[in-house]
Amino acid sequence: MTDLGGLISFLDSSPSPWHAVDSAARLLLEAGFEPMVLDDAWDQLPDAGFVVSGAALIAFRRATDGDAGTPFYIVGAHTDSPCLRVKPLPDTGAFGWRQLAVEVYGGVLLNSWLDRDLGIAGRVVLRDGSIADVAVAEAVCRVPQLAIHLDREVNDRGLVLDKQQHLTPIWGTGTSTQGDFRAWLADQIDVDATVVGWWELCLFDRTPAAVLGADASLLASGRLDNQISCWAATEALRTAASSDRHHQVIALFDHEEVGSESTTGAAGPMLEHVLERLHLAGGGDRGSLLAALTASACISADNAHAVHPNYPERHEPNHRPEVNRGPAIKMNANQRYATGAIGAARFQAACEAADVPWQVFVSRNNMPCGSTIGPLTAARLGIETLDVGVPQLSMHSARELCGVDDPLWLASALGAWFTG
Ligand code: ZN
Repeated sequence: MTDLGGLISFLDSSPSPWHAVDSAARLLLEAGFEPMVLDDAWDQLPDAGFVVSGAALIAFRRATDGDAGTPFYIVGAHTDSPCLRVKPLPDTGAFGWRQLAVEVYGGVLLNSWLDRDLGIAGRVVLRDGSIADVAVAEAVCRVPQLAIHLDREVNDRGLVLDKQQHLTPIWGTGTSTQGDFRAWLADQIDVDATVVGWWELCLFDRTPAAVLGADASLLASGRLDNQISCWAATEALRTAASSDRHHQVIALFDHEEVGSESTTGAAGPMLEHVLERLHLAGGGDRGSLLAALTASACISADNAHAVHPNYPERHEPNHRPEVNRGPAIKMNANQRYATGAIGAARFQAACEAADVPWQVFVSRNNMPCGSTIGPLTAARLGIETLDVGVPQLSMHSARELCGVDDPLWLASALGAWFTG
């Protein structure tokens, strides 16, 4: 269902990166993609399949007329979003409050997490090694802001939050004992507390995604960066016709918000290994793989900064994307984005074929530019890569904002690029 309802249900069912992978896997299964596992030999390849490792997923549809030289067309995105995560020994508190110790994951816009009713989602590893996904959507905890009466200058001086001292959520009253959280978690997944081993758990804003504006032209939700691109890549792959000239691949990586250096991040070996295994199982060798990679292409899809009406001076005057004007091609001469002129021309052609408008983002010379998985993929695999993304406001807030048209246009443009 490549429509806004499909994106909204993807967002609402994906409160953690592990759930985002589950949501993508569900869409792929419905479309007939076969689940495969990384620790099996791949002798018989399906026409279309996918593998999951932690909170990363790689899916492919093989070329109909492929041989050992067939290149890969890859769309990359990331499943993780900045958030607060529960520490291993979280039980703390004082003065009649029970609190949970949390770590800050990625570049969180800290103030956006205050005074929200938060749920908890992620995965729990049990003592027998089995893994249980957990998503508790009730209002479990909250980081309360200090009253203005006790912080009179806050509006003039700006809010300053210490990551260790000021972000510890309350989750009850009374006296806190180490083990309380473990017992609560065990209850949520219906096991005995002694069975609970370790966890990776995110706090999330319980408010569901919402269409916003008198003209219903905007979409508000947590995790738009970068679940929009995960959804658009998955939709593009599962609805695209197969190509006779290249294999179609999507790579949804974890850990982009913390630098991508992990087994399941874009700087890790997962994509390279999967491409090599697909190639070898298709009858190629190392030499033909390197030739195929050279002829391959990659789009790194990650959200862009739309121009903010209250802060237009933060944008480069000729390169400030607007919402509902199409996906932005992100360029940076210093290679913080991987886009080159050749890749940009190809993406423009895909947009034109799909009847999708497009824009360009370049940051101001006096403002540092963010980066994403594009340059890592380009450097690691030697594949020509370009960075594109849906323009949004409030990036890295607990609740972000974008236009309702751009995500659908991104999915259409990626689909046209896959089949072009
Ligand atoms: Zn991102």
